[in-house]
This record gives sequence, C-alpha cells and structure tokens, in this order.
Amino acid sequence: MKTGIDPDTTAFIERLPKTETHLHIEAAVPYRLVAGLHSGSAPRESDPSEFWHESFRFDTFEQFEAVLFGVALEWYTSAERYHEAARAIFEDLRAENVRYLETSFHIGIIEMFGIPGEEIIQAIKEAAPEGFEVRVFMGMLRDNYHGEMRKVIDDMPNWQQLDGVDIHGTEEKPLEEWNARAWAEARQAGKTTKAHAGEFTSADSVREVLDFLDVDRVEHGIRAADDPALVERLVRERIPLDTCPISNYKLRAVESMERHPIRPLFDAGVLCTISRDDPVVFGNTVCREYAVLADSLGFSRSELAAVARTGFEIALLPEEDKRRHIEEIDALAGDLG
Ligand SMILES: [Zn+2]
Repeated sequence: MKTGIDPDTTAFIERLPKTETHLHIEAAVPYRLVAGLHSGSAPRESDPSEFWHESFRFDTFEQFEAVLFGVALEWYTSAERYHEAARAIFEDLRAENVRYLETSFHIGIIEMFGIPGEEIIQAIKEAAPEGFEVRVFMGMLRDNYHGEMRKVIDDMPNWQQLDGVDIHGTEEKPLEEWNARAWAEARQAGKTTKAHAGEFTSADSVREVLDFLDVDRVEHGIRAADDPALVERLVRERIPLDTCPISNYKLRAVESMERHPIRPLFDAGVLCTISRDDPVVFGNTVCREYAVLADSLGFSRSELAAVARTGFEIALLPEEDKRRHIEEIDALAGDLG
C-alpha cells in the first residue's frame, strides 16, 4: 500500500463533509478509553496499536478476532460504557468532518452481559452532539436465532429507536429461514436491512443476500466485481455497497490495495461508500480511507467527492439535510475548476 498523497488532496479530504455507514461499535471504542481502565495499575498485556502499522496484515481471521474480542469484551459491559464510547467516537468523527454515522452493535452483548438492546440503542443515540446524526443497527450472526436470542430477534421490529438490522460474522455459514423472515418483519416495521456478504467468499454470496433477504444495502460486497451481470444489477437497482478498503487489505480479502475492487465497481457506476469497519483493530481513520483511494487506486478529487456524495445520498436523513451536505461537497468539488 502506498502512503503519500499531496498536501492539497489531504486538505481536500479533511474538508469534505463525510459519512460512515459501516462501523461495528464494539470494534470502534477508542483505545485510549480501554487503556484508561488500567491507569494506575499494570498496562494491558496486549496493545492493539501494534497492529496499526499501514503495512501490517493479519495472517488469519482468528488472529484478528482475538484482538477484537479482547478489547471489546473488556469495555462493553454496560449501557453506560456504550454511551461513553459513543461520545468519544462521535467526537473523533466530528474532528474528521464526518457528519452522519450508521453503526451496529452486536446482539451477543445482550446475551453476554444482560444489557437490554433498547438501552444500548438509547445510550448510543443520547451521545450524539448537535449537528451529528447517528443511526443504530443491530448486528447478528447467521445462527443467532438458535438460543436465548430468539425472543430478542422476534421482538426487534417493535423497537422504535432501532433503525435497522445487519448480519455479520462468518459468510461461509448458510443463511437460514429465520433470516429472511426477520428481515421481512424489520422491513415492514420501516427499518433498513443490511447484510455482510461478498467479502471473503464470492459474488454468489452477494446475490444470495439480495435474493433471499432483499437487503437495502450490502456490507463489503466487493466480490460482486467478479460477476458482470451482478454489477449491472447493483447499478440498475441502485443497491449501495458499504465497503471498507483498509479492513479488506488488513484481513487479506484483497491481494493488494492497488487491486481493490472498489475501483472497477465505482467505474461501473455501483454506489460505493467507504468506512472503517473495525478501527480499534486496524488503526484507520475515515480520512485515511479516502487517502488510500487517492493514493493506491488513483481516485481524483472529484471522484473522492463522488464517494462522499453517495454517503449522503443513501443516508437515512431528511431530504433537505442531504441536500445541504451535498451542496457543500459540490461547492468544494466545483472549486477544483
Ligand atoms: Zn463489517
């Protein structure tokens, strides 16, 4: 991965109004908060910042999960901790001129720590400062319906403050009947539906979440680039992909950053956004995600502006708010001459 872009492009990226629509909150706790739990005592045994170097790549998914679980499970033990982390996350995002966030929390935390899902959502939402909008999704695994969480999933469509649902975790596990039923119920309740697919597996997994779950949005979805008919469909049906280039690089979902499929997908007209996915493990920032597009994939400033614009176009915001942010992007991009 290359790392140098000119100062004008760096400044342009910083000034762009931006969104982030693919962020797992448990994997986004600023590490300073976790480290703070150890102030006055011995420091944590492992520090995730050792994995933050630009060129570091994980050897296995398990290695990544071990880092993530270590940090996340130490921090997220109460609704108050969600609130505290959310405040810090929003503050950092505002400093990057990110104005709109979609984040998910993992249903497993409800089970592990007995924190009601609706309290988690409220704790996150109450942390949003003036002028910053957050939408909260509940993320779950493909087999989470088999056990204690069945009641929670059945009840989820009634949660007023929940904005949507997402499926994450191992893509290799098959989707199950309950997935389709729960996603249909969520949709009927006015919620936005997402699913992780096409990150490590194939274009077929993207097709599967479109056909079987009828999702509004695909998380990652980059393997769709291998299938021209699917690319055409994503363009025609205007289904956005919430991609995470640095995450894909660090987890070896792509061979190199220079060959990341966001380039051909974007060129074909697929709606692509960029996000950090799991920043406490990767050490990435939203601006860095944009810089990588410019540096490794040759995105021009007007193309970077187009990516930012897509983020607001797909945002769950009132039309006038979207327009205001997009006009600001257009004015910045217009200055390019
Ligand atoms: Zn993800």
